[in-house]
Amino acid sequence: MKKAKRVTVTFFSALLTLLTLTAALPPSFAVTQDEIDTLITQANGLQEERDALEQEIGTYSSNIAAALERKALLDAEISQIEADVSALETSITDYEQRIDVTEGELADAKAREAQQYDLFCQRVRAMEEQGRMNCWMILLRATSFVDFLTRLDFVSEIMESDRRVMNDLKALQEEISEKQAQLTDEKRELEAANQALLDKKTELDTQRTAANQLIIDLEASRTEAEASRDILTEEAEQIQGEIVRLSEELARQEEEARIRAEAEAVEAYRALRERMSAELDDFTVSEGLGGYIWPVNSRRITSTFGGRASPGGIGSTNHKGVDIGGVGYGTAVHAAKGGTVIISQYSSSYGNFVVVSHGSGNTTLYAHMSARLVEAGQVVSQGDILGLTGSTGHSTGPHLHFEITENGTRINPLIYLSGYSLS
Ligand SMILES: [Zn+2]
Repeated sequence: MKKAKRVTVTFFSALLTLLTLTAALPPSFAVTQDEIDTLITQANGLQEERDALEQEIGTYSSNIAAALERKALLDAEISQIEADVSALETSITDYEQRIDVTEGELADAKAREAQQYDLFCQRVRAMEEQGRMNCWMILLRATSFVDFLTRLDFVSEIMESDRRVMNDLKALQEEISEKQAQLTDEKRELEAANQALLDKKTELDTQRTAANQLIIDLEASRTEAEASRDILTEEAEQIQGEIVRLSEELARQEEEARIRAEAEAVEAYRALRERMSAELDDFTVSEGLGGYIWPVNSRRITSTFGGRASPGGIGSTNHKGVDIGGVGYGTAVHAAKGGTVIISQYSSSYGNFVVVSHGSGNTTLYAHMSARLVEAGQVVSQGDILGLTGSTGHSTGPHLHFEITENGTRINPLIYLSGYSLS
């Protein structure tokens, strides 16, 4: 149980490392945010275009309203003129009737004049038939100047009477003619006024036709702009739909990737844990002298403590520890003794290395590891995993470089570790 608990704590660090690594992997999605952003830009452009059209439509609408207003005014004006024309036409008809009446009167007067003249002639003829002389004969038959004057008076009387009647008739005719002329003049004036109104109406009709045409043209333009706007709206809606669809697809893919990464991390954690558990089970705590245990499963010493030839030309020539081989990459490195981690870092020579203090100037050092699984300040028990074997720093292959320092002096670890083999 104690062992299992330690393992759990240690593996949380491993899990964190793995999760960090997984998260850093570059994702490759079918849908990209760039693709969506491009569509959004496109949709915004369409929206601007649509706004411009909307403004154009508004202008058309107000122009149509103005034209309709103008047309309404023209309609009213034309209606007024039509009423005026109608009234004038009634007046003209009235005048025509009155002129007709005066024509009748005139004809009547002329008839009476003719009749009067006829009567006069009849009287003259009657006088002739009765053997009486005509006026001239009466005058020429005068026997004396006095007789002539008497006869003249008589003739004049007759003629005066006729002349008076004729003059009266003439005067009547003139009066009627004058009246008729006056009526005709007035009628002509009315006709002129009526013609002016009709001319005005023709002009207004032309203006009304133009206004109607303008309204038709404006409405056609507005309809066209509205159609364009509708097309843009539809296009923008389609793009909007595509944005939503792609965003959902992206979210779905991201969620899938996240779930996959999580599953992979959990799987990696489980594998690591299984491997470490197996190693821990195999790990036999054989406490040597000084209370140290072997830090790895292997007992194969590939380089001993003290002077030696530089391995591969890069290792230390005055070896201050032992190299334990046969560990490969990634096997567990255990604390040889319980204590406090005082160093956990990377150096160019030791690579990933950890130093654990056991008190009283006694420390152990573990170098060239592929991973460190503890941090400085962390308290560890004997057998706790500090890291994984590797070949970082000045190293020619996977091995653990192990040092023991007692009272500030590095000593040969093999003093305390038994059962090793040299190779
Ligand atoms: Zn070494």
